[in-house]
Amino acid sequence: MKAIVIHQHGGPEDLVYEDIETPIIGPNEVLINIKAVGLNHFDLDLRGGISGYLSLDMPHILGCEGAGMIAEVGSAVTAYKVGDRVMPFLTTSLGQCRHRICNCALGMDNICLDFDKLGVTSWGTYAEYVKVTQYNVIRMPDDLTFMDAAATQVAYATAWEMVIKKAKVRQGEDVLINAAGSGVGSAAVQVAKLAGARIIATAGSDEKLERARQLGADEVINYNKTENIADAVLEMTGGRGVDVCIEMVGGKILQQSLTALCLNGRLTTCGAHAGEKVELDMIEFFRKQITMSSNHFAPKSTNTEVLGLVALGKLQPVVAKTFPLSNMRAAHELLASRDFYGKIVLKV
Ligand SMILES: [Zn+2]
Repeated sequence: MKAIVIHQHGGPEDLVYEDIETPIIGPNEVLINIKAVGLNHFDLDLRGGISGYLSLDMPHILGCEGAGMIAEVGSAVTAYKVGDRVMPFLTTSLGQCRHRICNCALGMDNICLDFDKLGVTSWGTYAEYVKVTQYNVIRMPDDLTFMDAAATQVAYATAWEMVIKKAKVRQGEDVLINAAGSGVGSAAVQVAKLAGARIIATAGSDEKLERARQLGADEVINYNKTENIADAVLEMTGGRGVDVCIEMVGGKILQQSLTALCLNGRLTTCGAHAGEKVELDMIEFFRKQITMSSNHFAPKSTNTEVLGLVALGKLQPVVAKTFPLSNMRAAHELLASRDFYGKIVLKV
């Protein structure tokens, strides 16, 4: 098969489009013919060898997100057949934790005790074919394109998990959404809008904030031009603060976001690129009766729910630019530049 292969950690020049043997499936596995690949910032860290994961076995194929059709099923697979339109689940699991209390059975298969990530210890989606076990397959609605599906899993399922499942945003609430120019942030703007919230979006550039407005943000704050986003939020909410904050930045933005919450406010987070260690004012935290929660992507059930909403047109993935798979280097260069809005998708 054709694939983007890396033989060593390094820059975009180490992404090589070449022939490599097609994976051979076991009884419990399916082979997926990938039609579209979604890129994530994590891919850059993994390529460079700075992801915090152990160094990869080489040669390796990156990619945790994609969509395609089942090309082959193992002898023990009964739920899927050749031709089914599916996506590989990016947080792979055994489907059954090796413990009396099984996260998978409780619907939290994104945090299986035997958690792994597609494209880390196994070959990923930058290829014509990828193999996964039958527990790590998500069905696609019939009328959803492969391109839209490949742009949905990380951004929209995570955003839905945060806004609807964890923060339980209700109609009329004030919601602060940080990094509104990012994949998850821009998706969260759409999801919170669908929930009927009033949205205050933050980002580091006016261009990204303008795009956030187009997606439904009511108020915007450029955190590169604002001393403290809490002051701006308090002014926009008549001194009360926001009901909910959707956070993924970390560092001082997380601290300021806690200050921007109203009494009994909720904050939910899924990242901390701008500061992994954060000092917390516990006095403020308990006096305000704040609830804080966190997310590591989303379970399969949330993905299924969100794919249905994308197929209905209730949520519309923003595809920034598409490339052919063979042009992965250019795609990675654009990804590293951060100079785009939405998702970069490759056609296989
Ligand atoms: Zn499990």
